[in-house]
Amino acid sequence: MAVWIETTFGLETEAESGRLRRAKPLSINGGDGAAQRLSTLTGVPAELCAAAIQQTLLAGYDALHPETRFPAFAFRLHQFISRGDTVYASLESPSDRYITLKGQQYVPDKTRQRILLPLVFCRECGQEYYVVNQHKDSQTAKLLFTARELRDQTREEDQQRGFLYHNPADPWPPDEAAILERLPEDWLVLSSGGLLRVKRHFRQKQPQVVRLDTSGQEEEQGTTYHFVHSPFAFCLHCGVTYSGRERSDFGKLASLSSEGRSTATTVLSLSALRALRRDETLERKAQKLLSFTDNRQDASLQAGHFNDFVEVGLLRTAVYQAVQRAGANGLKHDELAQRVFDALNMPLELYAANPDVKFLQKQETDQALRELLAYRVYQDLRRGWRVTAPNLEQAGLLKIDYVSLRELCQAVEEWQSGHAALASAAPAERYQGRDSRARQRPGTNASPPGCLAPQKNHPGTTAHLHPATAARAQKRRR
Ligand SMILES: [Zn+2]
Repeated sequence: MAVWIETTFGLETEAESGRLRRAKPLSINGGDGAAQRLSTLTGVPAELCAAAIQQTLLAGYDALHPETRFPAFAFRLHQFISRGDTVYASLESPSDRYITLKGQQYVPDKTRQRILLPLVFCRECGQEYYVVNQHKDSQTAKLLFTARELRDQTREEDQQRGFLYHNPADPWPPDEAAILERLPEDWLVLSSGGLLRVKRHFRQKQPQVVRLDTSGQEEEQGTTYHFVHSPFAFCLHCGVTYSGRERSDFGKLASLSSEGRSTATTVLSLSALRALRRDETLERKAQKLLSFTDNRQDASLQAGHFNDFVEVGLLRTAVYQAVQRAGANGLKHDELAQRVFDALNMPLELYAANPDVKFLQKQETDQALRELLAYRVYQDLRRGWRVTAPNLEQAGLLKIDYVSLRELCQAVEEWQSGHAALASAAPAERYQGRDSRARQRPGTNASPPGCLAPQKNHPGTTAHLHPATAARAQKRRR
């Protein structure tokens, strides 16, 4: 058993050289875990195998070396938890393509005709894109696409960094009018004649049609893909738009498991702490996790990350509970702080400098916390830098609506003094204008948290139309 564990978790033999190297991390449980492997090997049920593995590991840990007094068979966390990986796919239709987690150049069918390319996913909608470099074959003048790493931003003369889009359920349209509807609004300009066109410096950046065979070569009879350049400017599927200032694509597109190291450490630590808390045989003062690091800055960054993660988690849980308790009617802005405060139900000593306050002082202390909560709730609902922890609205757990916005869009006289396109637009189009704004990623156009200046957020002052809708409305008017 000990030998099997050592060769499964500890070391493996390199096929070519016969050298020993550290084995790939492997979890004990799960479909592809070590217990399952041992069960297949021995015919004994997987649960028994898991228990046997754990017992043997602990027995080895308890057996001390007679001289050094170190455990004879120590094991470490990283032997059981591997880092995430990228998913690769062949250039074929989503229903037939070959998908693998093993990074390799070709589909392993010995033909070397089907290349494998890494996939990344839109952080907003999950649409997949192939990460590629585009080259031009100097002899045939045909385009050739090869795999690229998402973080690879090196500029080469003869190649273009970018992404390939292919979605049969929502193809990028072939005709000009339909394309204008789907391009980001700040790419478009309305000419004096009322014609809509793409601004000059965005023309080069429009999705480019390419027909490819499975080897990534341009081929007339091949499948249609659309190539877009890096930095990623907008999602061809959901339309989320990024300003040209954001050069890195990491915040816009994620690989299958592009976890940050800090997040991974925080999640593992939290999981260990929760397990310790559940263990009733441990004294409360022993329910802690010690961490060692050789760098004080790393330690403080990690501590800050952990605290922030817990705080954001608590706040979001409270918002979610408060909204759920409110039922179908939801929560209005002026009730939010009180209800979140109630849902949080924190003991006074956790937030009061003096936990013995009473009467007016207690009321004032609670009021201060409510104000802080209101501020933090709205700040968290602004989309920001937490790319690995999207907020409640982004995750689809919360819907934000504006009081009277629908009625306002339906009204007539309120719009007469505004832009002509808005005045003549149908109510549904005005309402849709609010959606096109919502598709823009704030951070580039974030508004202040409503709790601090609710009166400034009158919906009528922020609604506007996508230029394509405005152009249609203008045409109709004429
Ligand atoms: Zn998207």
